Amino acid sequence: MPRAKRPMELSFRLAGYVLKNRLRGRSRFPLVTMLEPLEMCNLSCIGCGRIHEYKPVMDRMMTTEVAVAAVEASGAPIVSIAGGEPTIHPKIHEIIAELINRKYFVYCCTNGILLERVLKKVPPSKYLCWVVHMDGMEERHDESVARAGVFKKAMASIETALDSGYRVCSNTTLFRGSDVEDVHALFRTMSDMGIEGSMVSPGYDFEDAPDQELFLTRQESQAVFQQVLDKDQVKDFRLYNNPLYLDFLRGKREYQCTAWSNPTYTVMGWREPCYPLADRHTDNLEDLYAKELWDNYGVGKDRRCANCMMHCGFESATIFQAISSPKDWVTLVKSGAAHKSGITAA
Ligand code: SF4
Ligand code: SF4
Repeated sequence: MPRAKRPMELSFRLAGYVLKNRLRGRSRFPLVTMLEPLEMCNLSCIGCGRIHEYKPVMDRMMTTEVAVAAVEASGAPIVSIAGGEPTIHPKIHEIIAELINRKYFVYCCTNGILLERVLKKVPPSKYLCWVVHMDGMEERHDESVARAGVFKKAMASIETALDSGYRVCSNTTLFRGSDVEDVHALFRTMSDMGIEGSMVSPGYDFEDAPDQELFLTRQESQAVFQQVLDKDQVKDFRLYNNPLYLDFLRGKREYQCTAWSNPTYTVMGWREPCYPLADRHTDNLEDLYAKELWDNYGVGKDRRCANCMMHCGFESATIFQAISSPKDWVTLVKSGAAHKSGITAA
């Protein structure tokens, strides 16, 4: 069966949505709703903050109605479902179906362990893409997720999903000690399998993650990404991130974070201010758009932002800046990447 591809409708819908919001005079608005319908996981990855941060509410499951209401309140055309491990949620098929019925573009992040089971309940759709967590080839990935056999299981799930006509991407987080050759081997393998694209970003130094030595400083990230994203190598890979964000990762561009574009809804409410940081949770989405809030967060404003280069804050920033730079906009359009706005979780 030919591999499913990214629908053109996604780029048109996102461009129309951005234009409409700008014409309304909104300077800050959501591009991607990050939805975390649970925080429970069947893994305990070495760089994960969520499973520690949400320990007291680990058994909470968001209802389908609450999940859909949060997505509709945000209004962003793209929804990234993360957590926790979404495939554990007993109603995940129902949540995805309701969002697809409303024509949201859903990217469901998963470690792949239970994906084949969920595929039986969720038919392929141009509105749905599975994003499988892959931090390296077998040895490195199993080390990163702290369990042997997960790489093989995730690979089998990707193969089944592709053969069954689903859209599939992979998501790779780089940490201190990531092996450049191994990451290249992974990207090559993913491209050869025919996935839609590999997403990549550095890990965020979650204060709740058990191993703080894992996380790269901004300068270290840039040095690693200059090797990982070496121009001679990447031409053979199918990368999903947009070229402006890749240049940012290489240290060739500077942006201020626009994390308000990726509001994150959890079992405790909206994270404030952003996907990586939650100084509080709120039930009022509007709280995330207060000017005063963003006077206090972002690079140079809060010490915890100093090393952050995550998709959710900076890939969206490339889109917003490109709107006022015809040259950058042409770069995005040429690469077919104008829709890539910080879709995934780390
Ligand atoms: S990083 Fe993802 S897969 Fe790993 S423990 Fe955290 S939620 Fe689970
Ligand atoms: S830089 Fe932005 S996305 Fe990163 S932690 Fe700070 S506010 Fe959040």
